[in-house]
Order: sequence, then structure tokens, then C-alpha cells
Amino acid sequence: MSTPATPDGRRAIVLFSGGQDSATCLAWALQRFSAVETVAFDYGQRHRIELDCRLHFRRDLQSHFADWGERLGDDHLIDLGLLRALGDSALTSERAIRMRADGLPNTFVPGRNLLFFVAAAALAYRRGASVLVGGMCETDYSGYPDCRDNTLKALQVAISLGLAAPMTIETPLMFVDKAATWALAHELGGDALVELLVEHTHTCYLGDRGQRHAWGYGCGDCPACGLRARGHARWLASGKD
Ligand code: ZN
Repeated sequence: MSTPATPDGRRAIVLFSGGQDSATCLAWALQRFSAVETVAFDYGQRHRIELDCRLHFRRDLQSHFADWGERLGDDHLIDLGLLRALGDSALTSERAIRMRADGLPNTFVPGRNLLFFVAAAALAYRRGASVLVGGMCETDYSGYPDCRDNTLKALQVAISLGLAAPMTIETPLMFVDKAATWALAHELGGDALVELLVEHTHTCYLGDRGQRHAWGYGCGDCPACGLRARGHARWLASGKD
């Protein structure tokens, strides 16, 4: 692992939910940018575990990685309860997770990521930041249309025009699978970062943190746990490449 001698002077805001992907993106941003802040959104998630995990992850990241700790700035929690007011889904109410007739899972919250980026951009404008970093991924099973590369490229243009200020959206995980996400974390921060990801990030749809597996905590059965576990196994099988 190495920190560039001259980091990119721009300030970045990472959309940091407390999951594995956004936590990896936080490390990625700290490796590149001279100042990094984090933001999360509270919209009445079924499980608030991710929101708790994120503060533990930030704290341990600061104590284990001195260079990153110096660059890591404020954390922001923005209330987007209006998403709940607009209608529920499996992420904000206790319903079984299933695929809809149109091929999208019922965990799809319409407009969620669009709102996230607009809110993060408004925050970035106030904080003097010009880069937004998110862990969205096209290779994920969910296929959320507002996580796709073209959606976010179009949004970057709309936001930059609407604020009359350049705002770059970076999505380092857009075209990588879960095994490559573990590999990226290892490349950025070695075994120490992987251990922090296992211990402090949360993925399970059911909010289960009772069992610790090699890949982290979770029920082991839901789609999110399955994806994370298979990615971790493939990464280990590859010799951590
Ligand atoms: Zn699970």
C-alpha cells in the first residue's frame, strides 16, 4: 500500500452508508484526495445497523491509518425521511424481498440514489468540495437503474450545470465484481483494511450481526450476504490478487 506523495488537491465527499462498498470507496478517496468528508442519509432504513457501523469504521480507520486519518474530515447525516413519505419498499418496511415482474427487486426505492447525489452535491457546494464518490456498481445483481454508469454521468452534468460549479462523480466500483472489491481494499490498505471491513461494515438485508463469518457478519442466506460471501471466497481462491 502506498499513499501518493502529492494527493489530488480537490476536496471529496464520500457517500458512506457503512456497507462494504462505500467503506472501500472511502479508503479509495482517502488515498487520492487531500481532504475527504463523509455523508450518510437517514430515510427510515429497516435496519439502522449500517448507520452505527459507519462511525466505528471511521474511528478505526483514523486510528489504524495515520495519513488517511489526517485527511478524513467531518461526517454528515442528512435526514431524507421524505423517501419514506413517498412510499415504502422492502428496505424501509418489513416485507419479504422478491423480484418484481419488471425484473427489479422490490428493494428498489425510486429516486433514492438520484436524491442522494443531489443532496450530497448541495452539501459539497457548501463545503468547498467538487468530487462526489459513491460505491454504485453495475455488476451487482440488483440492477438498480439509478446506480448505472450512464445515469450517474448524466446526473454529473445536470448537477454541475444546476450548481454552476464543476462536480465530478467518481464510482470506482462501477465495473468490478465483489471479489475485485475485496482485492481493491487489500491493495489500498492490506490485511488491516480488510479486517476493518470484515469487522465494521454491514451488508445483510436482515440486519443480522449475530454470526461472524470469514467475510463479516450476516445471516449468510439473504441475497446481500450471498453476494458478499461468494465474492470473498473467490478473492481468497485467487490468492488475494
Ligand atoms: Zn443476510
